[in-house]
Amino acid sequence: MTNEDYRAWVAAACPQEIRGRGLNYTGGSKNALPDPAFRRWFDACVERGFTVPEWPVEYGGAGLNTKQARALGDAMREVGAPLPLFGTGTTMLGSTLLEYGTDDQKARHLPRTARGEISWCQGYSEPGSGSDLAALATRAEDHGDYYLVNGSKIWTSGAHRSDWIFCLVRTDPEAPKQQGISFLLFALDQPGVTVRNFALIHGASEFCEAFFDDVKVPKTDLIGQPNDGWTIAKRLLQYERSSVAKGQFLPRGGSLADALKHYGTNEAARDNALKIDMDDAAFRLTRARAAEETKGGVGTFATSTFKLISSELESRRLDAMINIMGTRGLGWTGDGFADKELEATRKWLYNKGFMIAGGRSEIQRNVIAKRVLGLPD
Ligand SMILES: Cc1cc2nc3c(=O)[nH]c(=O)nc-3n(C[C@H](O)[C@H](O)[C@H](O)COP(=O)(O)OP(=O)(O)OC[C@H]3O[C@@H](n4cnc5c(N)ncnc54)[C@H](O)[C@@H]3O)c2cc1C
Repeated sequence: MTNEDYRAWVAAACPQEIRGRGLNYTGGSKNALPDPAFRRWFDACVERGFTVPEWPVEYGGAGLNTKQARALGDAMREVGAPLPLFGTGTTMLGSTLLEYGTDDQKARHLPRTARGEISWCQGYSEPGSGSDLAALATRAEDHGDYYLVNGSKIWTSGAHRSDWIFCLVRTDPEAPKQQGISFLLFALDQPGVTVRNFALIHGASEFCEAFFDDVKVPKTDLIGQPNDGWTIAKRLLQYERSSVAKGQFLPRGGSLADALKHYGTNEAARDNALKIDMDDAAFRLTRARAAEETKGGVGTFATSTFKLISSELESRRLDAMINIMGTRGLGWTGDGFADKELEATRKWLYNKGFMIAGGRSEIQRNVIAKRVLGLPD
């Protein structure tokens, strides 16, 4: 299909009433569609494989190459069409499973994910292992054809609304820490799993703790080899960091130029906004070039560079926005503030936490120093 064909298809398939509203749908049995008209758009995308355009057709995708997928994405963005499906299943797990899963695992999990029948969460961090992820302590004991999982995860985004988890577990407590880890998939709706949800600084309640008490996981859902999960975990992190760098998880702050017009301006704020917009434009071009060069842009540890720059740029943008808005940017609730103003405050606060997700800036700098620049430990 040409770029024009994608535009024509999106124009015909996406109902006017859901355009430009920033709607979001993560699929799965616990998430409602955000609008009745969204169903038509979602079904049309599922039929064409456009919920996961780059996945192979046999697994629910459209088999598009990077350039074609970008043309489709551009066509959607141009008219404000919402992404039909979004979440860790499509952005992180799917690509990882395509690389490391067996045919049986791909056939069981990918089509259901592409059709939005199941949604996923990420079970990596634990109370004692965030930045030092390889120190994780959740155990999985070998019981022949299944593992018995005991332990807990924290900061598990959206676990209360997810059907399945991709989870790092320790299968060999005696091995050096990176070498005793395995990568498991299991359903959350089963005996032994407890999920608790708690609130974040911006007021919404996305974070969870997940507790595992003798959870039975068939070995058919071990991805890769036992004790070789660290390699897969790192690969998935590259997909995660790449998604963060594309701005896929964080709702972007509004236009600084519009804010300057609306709230008035001073020279320093204008210069700062201009510098941020220029850095942003340069970053987008660099990322697009890297995507061309690596046929997708997630093949290397350089994704850490993009994650670092993108999250810091977004943080500068949101700080600048609050600065321009002055006291209008400090509202939390009430009639005295417009909805957009309240939303700006919450985005700014959310971003404070979001800079940590996928590994904080210090951790990205460590990866860049070691893996990209080859500096010694
Ligand atoms: C919005 C959000 C969503 C998240 N979603 C998920 C999820 O779905 N699933 C999941 O598993 N986890 C998730 N996380 C957890 C996230 O991966 C961890 O918070 C992150 O890895 C940091 O770990 P920590 O919170 O334990 O902080 P720590 O590791 O305790 O770090 C605290 C501080 O010390 C610094 N630091 C630590 N080690 C070093 C070092 N070697 N060099 C320099 N500085 C260092 C850090 O940069 C940080 O500033 C999410 C986090 C956020 C904020």
